[in-house]
Amino acid sequence: MEKYYICDACKFQFVRHGEEERCPDCGKEAIRYATGEEIADFKRIQKELKHEK
Ligand SMILES: [Zn+2]
Repeated sequence: MEKYYICDACKFQFVRHGEEERCPDCGKEAIRYATGEEIADFKRIQKELKHEK
């Protein structure tokens, strides 16, 4: 199952199928699970990015 994370340090959002301890963008251990609202935003942005290609 996909897990949605967000980094509190740089606000980077990403998806992983397993556990992650560090932000892949800034490398800090400031990540947490994204809230339902944040996940919805993330999915919307991903959809928009696909339409641009
Ligand atoms: Zn980060």
